[in-house]
Amino acid sequence: MMGFPMVQILFAGFFSLLSLPSAAILLWAAFIGFEDRSSEFLIVMAGFVFIISINAIFSLRKLIKFRSKSFAWYKAEHANHVSKNGVSCFSCGSSRIHARALMNHTYHREHFCSQCGKTLYYSPEEA
Ligand SMILES: [Zn+2]
Repeated sequence: MMGFPMVQILFAGFFSLLSLPSAAILLWAAFIGFEDRSSEFLIVMAGFVFIISINAIFSLRKLIKFRSKSFAWYKAEHANHVSKNGVSCFSCGSSRIHARALMNHTYHREHFCSQCGKTLYYSPEEA
C-alpha cells in the first residue's frame, strides 16, 4: 500500500497538540481575564488555533480509521469474502461492491456494498 499522506498525519498530529494550550488560553480569558489589552491578539490567535486543532483531531481520527480498515484488513478479517473472483459483502454476501471518493483532502475511497450499504474497507486514492 502506497501513497498514504504521511505529511497530513504529521500536520494533524502537530495541531492536535496545540489544542490544549490554546484551549487553556481561551478558558483563562473567559474566566479570569487578562489585565493587559495587548493580550486580545493572543486570545484571537488562540481561538484560531483551537478551531484548526479540533479539525485536525477529527481528520486524524478519520485517517487512522481509513488506514486501519484497509483492503488487507478486510481480507484478514473476512477471508471467506475475498477470493480471486472478487470481493463480497461480509454482511449480506452481495458481490456488488462499489467505491466512492470521500470528502476533499482525505485522499481515500470508501468501498461499500450497494446491496445493504455497509462500508467494507477504505483504500488510498491513486494520484
Ligand atoms: Zn451487503
